[in-house]
Amino acid sequence: MSELIVGIDLGTTQSAVAVVDSGFPILLADENGDRLTPSAVWFAESGEVEVGSKALRRSGVESVVTSVKSLMGRRCDEVPGRLTDAGKVVTPAGELSPEKISSFILGRLQEIAQSHLEKPVLKAVITVPAYFHDAQRAATKRAGELAGLEVVRILSEPTAAALSFGLDRLNEHSKVAVFDLGGGTFDVSILEMRDGVFEVISTAGDTELGGDNFDRSIATSMAKRFDLDWNGLDPLDQVRWIDEARRVKHSLSEAENATYRIPFVGESELSRLDLEELMKGELGRMERCCHRALQDGQLKSGDLSSVVMVGGSSRIPCVQALVRKVFEQEPDLSQHPDEAIAKGAAIQAGILSGAIQEVLLLDVTPLSLGIETMGGLMNVLIPRNTTIPCKAGEMFTNAVDYQTQMQVKVLQGERELAADNWTLGLFDVEFESHRRGQARVGVEFRIDADGILSVLARDISTGKDTIIEVGSAAVDVRESRVEQMVSESVEYAFEDMKARVFEEARLKAQELLPAVQSALEQAGEFLSQDERSSIIECKKEVENALEAGVGALLKASVEKLDEATETLAAILVERATGEFFSGPQG
Ligand code: ADP
Ligand code: MG
Repeated sequence: MSELIVGIDLGTTQSAVAVVDSGFPILLADENGDRLTPSAVWFAESGEVEVGSKALRRSGVESVVTSVKSLMGRRCDEVPGRLTDAGKVVTPAGELSPEKISSFILGRLQEIAQSHLEKPVLKAVITVPAYFHDAQRAATKRAGELAGLEVVRILSEPTAAALSFGLDRLNEHSKVAVFDLGGGTFDVSILEMRDGVFEVISTAGDTELGGDNFDRSIATSMAKRFDLDWNGLDPLDQVRWIDEARRVKHSLSEAENATYRIPFVGESELSRLDLEELMKGELGRMERCCHRALQDGQLKSGDLSSVVMVGGSSRIPCVQALVRKVFEQEPDLSQHPDEAIAKGAAIQAGILSGAIQEVLLLDVTPLSLGIETMGGLMNVLIPRNTTIPCKAGEMFTNAVDYQTQMQVKVLQGERELAADNWTLGLFDVEFESHRRGQARVGVEFRIDADGILSVLARDISTGKDTIIEVGSAAVDVRESRVEQMVSESVEYAFEDMKARVFEEARLKAQELLPAVQSALEQAGEFLSQDERSSIIECKKEVENALEAGVGALLKASVEKLDEATETLAAILVERATGEFFSGPQG
């Protein structure tokens, strides 16, 4: 008998739990027959807690926490107004971490599974958006542990969707895109399926794009129609307006028109076209993500055999139309939009427990990982979209004589300058004292199957290792969103390149200038006056370019100085070997 592991879709708006039974994944319903549990937690001062629809039925906005997923692994300045300085959520039951709040949702799902299966549920596979970075994955894992669940695997949501799509297509060889639009997040991933192996080729998305945005747009535009100031409404009213917006949005997935109605305020017609107009900005963002996923995978839409749509918001007609347009094919709507991810998680759980065989799964890194090197540059060790688990390493040396310590700054992001990327961790490596350039320190990055990074640094001469698990390190994220990171890397590609060119040329100049100076002194009369003045002129140019801070200029002048000093270098070499005095003089 295989051991019991459940699959959990811990969604922003709703969550679900599934298990493999006789080779097939099934969703488990609660005592009311509901297979989806709203990701809402209600807290009372007494410490009483209610989860799901029971929580939503409680009144009082402050005491119900929703969308806690968007706070997982975040710092307070990334989600203004939602977290305390200590990274906690204020509830009537006290200040609680997002992990703690999520653990109540997981606990509820565990309870549903246990009463269904009539045995203890202690292990789970939990899904996260592909774009969740390290700290967010680690926080999700901790949430499971707080609920008393051993999290045997963190799985990316699109991969989970592809698993439930691909389960009965194990013999096919094809590439598919998974388009997942939920309540708060958007992901698009391209996977390759071959002989039961699933490999993620590329992934793109936006952690702040989903149905919630549409609800808000509808509600605020209705307020405008009724000549009301949205910000003037009290929070409880805003909730009512947003609830009505969601109801209307759902109707518009079935009908051409719907009526938006707020008792004692007014009512107004809304058409599908109106909704499409309101969603224009979001549709554009989705389109760009799709193109980027194709581009990153070096694919054309024609290379995809299917485009699978999942997530509650994939039911919206204009979203389906967008997918049809971008991928130039009919989207595949065969998967249940609300259930596919949990089912995929259950399949992964089944693979791990042995309940399902013949499937293998490979995931990728959403962003590049590297360390900061001299001149504040990003040195990538593991590029974005590398299949995990993986490891990669590089050798580094000391920049200063008799230095015995080196700071390793672990970075994540797509920018050329270290400071523009996110710092995942910072630690010191000690090594034996050596002259400049003589110490040898190997740095290795390892990403395990859960997407959690650990970094190893080894002093080669002593064999001493320093290992840190970045997954649990404090996260010092400069920018709040991965989407932003990737789009900025494109936007600033030109500036970044210029900055890198300058930094590299500057390092070279810093080495060259003092070397040239001392060579000039040593060469003495063996260097002709002409040569000497031309070298001095080139040297001046480098100094000027350094001052001006122009990379291209600096690079060119450094190259020129390098060339101009060729004879000088030859003279010094000859002098050093004594040949200069015996050879012909010219
Ligand atoms: P998450 O994974 O973020 O929890 P889901 O995939 O469960 O999200 O999707 C929830 C979102 O789907 C909500 O914004 C909800 O309003 C939206 N949704 C559900 N049904 C429909 C529908 N019929 N038409 C449009 N949107 C829908
Ligand atoms: Mg989801």
